[in-house]
Amino acid sequence: MSVTQSLNLPIQYLKTVGPQRAKLLQKLKIFTIRDLLYHFPRRYEDRRLIRQIYNCNQDEIVTVQGTVLGSQDLKPRRGLTITKVTLNDGISVFYAVWFNQAYIKQQLIPGQKLIVTGKVDRKYGSVQIKVTDYEIWNEGAAGHCEQVVPIYPLSEKVSQKFLRGLVKLCLENYSFEQEEFIPVNLLKKYKLPSFSQALHWIHLPKTINEAEQARRRFIFEELFLLQVFLAAKKHRVSKKNKSFKYMTKNSLVDKFLGRLAFNLTAAQERVWQEITRDMESPNPMYRLLQGDVGSGKTVVSTLALLKAAESGLQGALMVPTEILAEQHYLFLQQYLRPLGVKISVLTGKMRKSEKERIITAIENGEMQIIVGTHTLIQEHIKFKNLALAVIDEQHRFGVRQRATLQYKGKHPDILVMTATPIPRTLAMTLYGDLDISVIDKLPSGRKPIKTHVISSRKLSDVYAFVKKELKLGRQAYIVCPLVEESSYVESQAAIDLAQELSEQELAEFHVGLLHGRMKPEHKDNVMRNFRQGKIDVLVSTTVIEVGVDVPNATVMVILDADRFGLAQLHQLRGRVGRGTQQSYCILIANPKTDEARARLAAMNSSGDGFHLAERDLQIRGPGEFYGTRQSGLPDLKIADLLRDWKILEVARSEAILLLSSDPGFKKPENTPLVKEIKFRFFNSEQFAYIG
Ligand code: ADP
Ligand code: MG
Repeated sequence: MSVTQSLNLPIQYLKTVGPQRAKLLQKLKIFTIRDLLYHFPRRYEDRRLIRQIYNCNQDEIVTVQGTVLGSQDLKPRRGLTITKVTLNDGISVFYAVWFNQAYIKQQLIPGQKLIVTGKVDRKYGSVQIKVTDYEIWNEGAAGHCEQVVPIYPLSEKVSQKFLRGLVKLCLENYSFEQEEFIPVNLLKKYKLPSFSQALHWIHLPKTINEAEQARRRFIFEELFLLQVFLAAKKHRVSKKNKSFKYMTKNSLVDKFLGRLAFNLTAAQERVWQEITRDMESPNPMYRLLQGDVGSGKTVVSTLALLKAAESGLQGALMVPTEILAEQHYLFLQQYLRPLGVKISVLTGKMRKSEKERIITAIENGEMQIIVGTHTLIQEHIKFKNLALAVIDEQHRFGVRQRATLQYKGKHPDILVMTATPIPRTLAMTLYGDLDISVIDKLPSGRKPIKTHVISSRKLSDVYAFVKKELKLGRQAYIVCPLVEESSYVESQAAIDLAQELSEQELAEFHVGLLHGRMKPEHKDNVMRNFRQGKIDVLVSTTVIEVGVDVPNATVMVILDADRFGLAQLHQLRGRVGRGTQQSYCILIANPKTDEARARLAAMNSSGDGFHLAERDLQIRGPGEFYGTRQSGLPDLKIADLLRDWKILEVARSEAILLLSSDPGFKKPENTPLVKEIKFRFFNSEQFAYIG
């Protein structure tokens, strides 16, 4: 039988697995022999460290051995059976106890040798071990379990013993010698065991060192396959040819720059050069523009949109909220309409007739720049010649949505923007197929935002401070507590607070209200009034979290700040400090957990988004970092992006090297690699959005 086939055989092919057990194994997501072999041990127990019971301390977890002298079942009360086995380890006699596992008594015959692991309980001069794991020591057979024992992740009714036996059976009955798919030169270079060797070592190690070698191999394997996949995708995409061309001389772009009240920063200038180069290249751009909150990404994307427009092509800008669509639209209108550029906005709330008029204008090419929410990607919307798709706050979109916008054109240039700084290791994994540009400096003249964590008992002091700032002519945000379960409750809290403040503490000012359950046109109205200074203080839910840009606002008060995640707090804080005035972020919190305290301390100590993201990653781990829902993070079985970043970097550079030496995977020695990658990533949602 060919071995590839055996890897993908249903688990029932193993003698001891019938339909019953197959069902239990399914709970561990084990369906095939491959799944079983990739169900790696969580850790190992080194049984060569077997102890003598007399020198074990109370409550220690130890592994000891002994010869069975006898056993008894005790039933101290209904529903509880204690099996007590008397063991002799050569020096002392002690008891191993199991709870409600009466079948154990039948398995153990006096004279048999037993290894047990568990917690030591010394009482009234006798010693008990509460057994968590045990093994009958079978001295005749050269069983692996005698030395280093794998401890697997389990589910109900699947025991360590059963899994160990199954894996052993599998490794004994099938050969995986021919199954290698990692290039041999890499195995040599990094001193990694072969596939077959690694399988034996990870499941049946003779020493902890063997297990570690095997783990290194599988970690490298996982990251390398992912990186080759991403590099291949990037390669494939970048070979495509665009069906359109931009003009290289851009008089409107220059005019726009001339109309701005400021000069581009060096960082913006550099990024704009990178984007221009991509746009003028015959191959499509796939670029991620990263820049901390307030770093000025909008201007850069406007330049790109304008370049498309003045080349007789269309540009689209997709944003996650209607408030943001409106804001971008206003900005583009203000600066580009005088230049004769046709711009429109498309959101869900619009009247049908108006929507249809705009949709027609998009289709016949009359509209040059279109701003919109996810309404832009509805099926009936067709572009005449979409050349550039910009996606702002891209992490707020699902991968499918991004892909859909892309497919509205023929290999258009793609620019995705995010203010959520991404630690390098995550960026390599999430965006390994994108080029990355970074705006790494804020415009000059910005003062660092002063951040304070303040207990809710001092709320009145905070309002007094807000008042002082308002009297100076500045504006403020007050963000209501996060209520995850219900936007109704969250909105209601904002309504109540706005009412209270406008009647009491802030009665002399204009208090505005913004929450998720307001009608879109109502929201626009409020934002317009806030932007124009007609509202002094805006009480809001987190609807203002991303993108909102009102430079005159200098105070951000966040209530119950301990409930927010670090990324969210940083985004909210980024709503202020956008002008030249000193700005403040006041976090009202009485944190109850260590994690919450760590987040607030991080906010207090750093204003740098990248630093905070790294910190966030440490506090929460990669899975949580992005929220699992639309993270796009691949499901890693054994590698850990935090711990294994060095291996990740090696895997990445080797992947790029491999692609450049064999771009089309023509070399026969790479065939197994390609096959394995196809197997693993075929149908993978996470990576659907490009290519
Ligand atoms: P973000 O990167 O968070 O999207 P924005 O593009 O909204 O940031 O820009 C934040 C603020 O900085 C805006 O008010 C914008 O007009 C201003 N800005 C952008 N570039 C510059 C610059 N080079 N000099 C001064 N202010 C700038
Ligand atoms: Mg923005």
